[in-house]
Amino acid sequence: MRLSTSRRSTIPVMRRLLRWAFNGMTLVSAALLVATCVLWVRSYFGVDALFCRSETDQIVFCAGGGQFALQDIENYPSYSSLKQGWQTRRDPGSRAVRDQLFWNRSVSGGGNPFVKKPSNPYRLGFWWGTLLNPDPAMPGDFVVIGYIWPLSVPWGILPLLWLWRFRHWLRDRRREHGLCPACGYDLRATPDRCPECGADPATRRAT
Ligand SMILES: [Zn+2]
Repeated sequence: MRLSTSRRSTIPVMRRLLRWAFNGMTLVSAALLVATCVLWVRSYFGVDALFCRSETDQIVFCAGGGQFALQDIENYPSYSSLKQGWQTRRDPGSRAVRDQLFWNRSVSGGGNPFVKKPSNPYRLGFWWGTLLNPDPAMPGDFVVIGYIWPLSVPWGILPLLWLWRFRHWLRDRRREHGLCPACGYDLRATPDRCPECGADPATRRAT
């Protein structure tokens, strides 16, 4: 008996925590969705680059002309003289965009002499492969190329789920208050059919 009462009190707490987690993750998702869209639009007016550099390695993410490139460059001794850590850079103008698109096209097209063959075709709008190093003793660099807009799709899932849940919550609330679940019209005088939008609250409850 004692167990059941304690369990009864923990379930709402769990549910509330889950709801908070869901809302928080939705908010993060929505922020990333907006950020990706901003990056996508910006990419047509210049090239944005984010890179992380250590003494010999560098990971670069650049966006230009609606496309992105993620590159992992390893074992470049010359990096030791450059600034280390996370850095961002923006090259404005159409020329930077053209250069970025030319580089993307030459690498993903497989005509580039430094692309390890056979080059992979685009899969789901993405291309990835290895760039050969002119020095055969050095390992190749890993490259991923693709369009920016598909990156926003995963961030849209949680906000859509949230809106869907919100719609259900709104309908339930309207029903509880004797309002039409479809349009919110007061149904206390006509509980069988909404005079405003013609919805039948009874059939809507079944679906
Ligand atoms: Zn209605």
